[in-house]
Amino acid sequence: NTDLRESMYLVSEFAQKYFHDTLLHTEEGKAIGLSYFKERGFTAETIKKFGLGYSPETWDAFSKEALGKGYQLEFLESTGLTINKEERLIDRFRGRVMFPIQSMSGRVLGFGGRILTNDKKAAKYLNSPESDIYHKSKVLYGIFHAKQSIAKLNNCYLVEGYTDVIQFNQAGIENVVASSGTALTPDQIRLINRLTKNITVLFDGDAAGLRASVRGIDLILEEGMNVKVCTFPDGEDPDSFAKKSSYEDLLAYLEHNAKDFIQFKASLLMDEAKNDPVKKADLIRDMVVSISKIKDRIQREVYIQETSRIMDISEQVLLNTLAQMAQKDL
Ligand code: ATP
Ligand code: MN
Ligand code: MN
Ligand code: MN
Repeated sequence: NTDLRESMYLVSEFAQKYFHDTLLHTEEGKAIGLSYFKERGFTAETIKKFGLGYSPETWDAFSKEALGKGYQLEFLESTGLTINKEERLIDRFRGRVMFPIQSMSGRVLGFGGRILTNDKKAAKYLNSPESDIYHKSKVLYGIFHAKQSIAKLNNCYLVEGYTDVIQFNQAGIENVVASSGTALTPDQIRLINRLTKNITVLFDGDAAGLRASVRGIDLILEEGMNVKVCTFPDGEDPDSFAKKSSYEDLLAYLEHNAKDFIQFKASLLMDEAKNDPVKKADLIRDMVVSISKIKDRIQREVYIQETSRIMDISEQVLLNTLAQMAQKDL
């Protein structure tokens, strides 16, 4: 229902302004939220561009303010901003810095909220729940600011988190989006596919990031897109790396380290697999699985040649394996 959804958008936009004003103009917001963002290296301009905010520590400050302004409880609840528990209203986000999540056209769909401590027991990020306006599997964080740059540069950087997107923008690279809070989905890839055929995956330099990038590769290939992968030094993510680099250094790093997916897969496991025929066979099969996702025949042929060369195995064996896989799929 369009009217109900419009009301949810309006509540979300009010919340975004409330959190943003609280960050910039209240004592608590300035002392806690703003100093946190400053510490992370975000400028005033960046905070404004991404509409960042702060939600106060109290139980219901936001809900009260919204109701006082005439927003209806129904929409505060359906957007998940207010939790109505036994007739007691509780703000979902309390004592967190706020990242509004915008649609392609710039409307506010939901929020990610980060705790400020490094308390390992509490969830670091809390997100808005699924709703009629927020479908997390169909949203890419940063797409509103990225879309023009993606089309113009004909490439999209894909990162994991909110702060990666923001730090890249601040460094002068705008063609970047995050799958935030979910593993990459086909719907998210299709959103990018409307703007460019080329994706460069930039996941965190840790085991989780590596696993996520490997999973993402085959999904992107299945959509008929080209995929490169660029990894970061262990313990770094795009945010921490960009924070200490100049625009020129960052761009040079990305250009020198972006590998074609087949080289990425090969280099990822080659060290381990080199002297172990069983592991090497597994790796080759894994590479052929990726190649089997490519729809373009010529491109597939080129990748078979490349794999043959890198892995030192005959093209015929690779083609046979590919054919066997196709048969199994039937
Ligand atoms: P930060 O730099 O603020 O510590 P990050 O973006 O580097 O955060 P990661 O731990 O690398 O955080 O996680 C990547 C992304 O995954 C986050 O930006 C967030 O969208 C999501 N995420 C992380 N932890 C959680 C969580 N506990 N609940 C929901 N989503 C999470
Ligand atoms: Mn990580
Ligand atoms: Mn990270
Ligand atoms: Mn980080």
